[in-house]
Amino acid sequence: MLYSGNIWFAFAASSLRYLFFAGIAYLFFYVWKKKAMFRYKIQKQFPGAKAVTTEIKYSLLTAQIFAVVIYLFVFGPVSAYTQIYTDIHARSLWYFFFSIVVIIFLHDTYFYWTHRLMHWKKIFPYVHHIHHRSHNPTPWAAFSFHPLEALIEIGIIPLVVLIIPVHPFALAVFGLYMIVLNVIGHLGYEIFPVQFIRHPFFKWMNTSTHHNMHHHFSKCNYGLYFNLWDRLLNTNHSKYEEEFTRVVKKAKDEKNVTATDSHSFSI
Ligand SMILES: [Zn+2]
Ligand SMILES: [Zn+2]
Repeated sequence: MLYSGNIWFAFAASSLRYLFFAGIAYLFFYVWKKKAMFRYKIQKQFPGAKAVTTEIKYSLLTAQIFAVVIYLFVFGPVSAYTQIYTDIHARSLWYFFFSIVVIIFLHDTYFYWTHRLMHWKKIFPYVHHIHHRSHNPTPWAAFSFHPLEALIEIGIIPLVVLIIPVHPFALAVFGLYMIVLNVIGHLGYEIFPVQFIRHPFFKWMNTSTHHNMHHHFSKCNYGLYFNLWDRLLNTNHSKYEEEFTRVVKKAKDEKNVTATDSHSFSI
C-alpha cells in the first residue's frame, strides 16, 4: 500500500486544492480586481450570494467523493490491483511526462462523451442538473456536481490506473492541470487574446468563453481542455468564435466601462 495512505490526508488535500485555486481566482477577479477586470467579464451581471454558496457547497462535497476514490485506487487497498508504480526510476523520465499527456488526452475524451451522455434528457435531471444551476458560473463552480456526477467525473482515475502504468506524482501533476483548467473554464472572464482562437495551435484549446457559453446555452460546447471533439462532432456553438471575438474586442475598447452595464450575450 502506497505511503500507508491516509483517508484524512486525502480529504484535506482534495478540499484544499479546490479552495486554493478557486479561491485565488475568485478573490482576484470578483473581489480585489473586480472593477479593473470588469471589461473582461463574459456575462456582465454577477451571480448572487446564494448561487455562489450552492457552488461551494456542492464542490466541497465533490472534493470528498474525489478523495475517497483517489484514496482507494491510488493509495489504499485497491492500488494493489492497478498499474501504479511507486519507484520513479522503474520507468524513464520520458515515460513519466508522456503518461501525463496521455492522461490529459484520455480525460478530455472521457469528459466529452460522459458529458454528452449526462445531457441526455433521461439522465440530465438526476445527474447533471446541479452543475447547470450555474448559468453564469464563478470559479467556485469548478466541482459543483451532484454526487452521482462527481463519481462519473472521478471515474477517469480508476480507468487510467487500470489501463496504463502511472506514478502518483504524474496523477498529482494531472490533478493540478485539471483544477487550473477547470477554474479557467468557470472563471466568467475571458483572459485570452483575440488571436487565440485563430492561432494554428491555440485554436485547439478551449477558452473561458467556450465553457461559459455551455452554461448559458447548455446544448453546445461540451469539451473540456481541447476544442477537438466539439469540432469533430460539430457541437461547438455556431457563434462561438464570433462571441469570443466580441467579448475580447469589447474588453479592449471599453477602458472606462461602468459596473452598471447589464449587457450579456448578444446572440
Ligand atoms: Zn461547467
Ligand atoms: Zn453540461
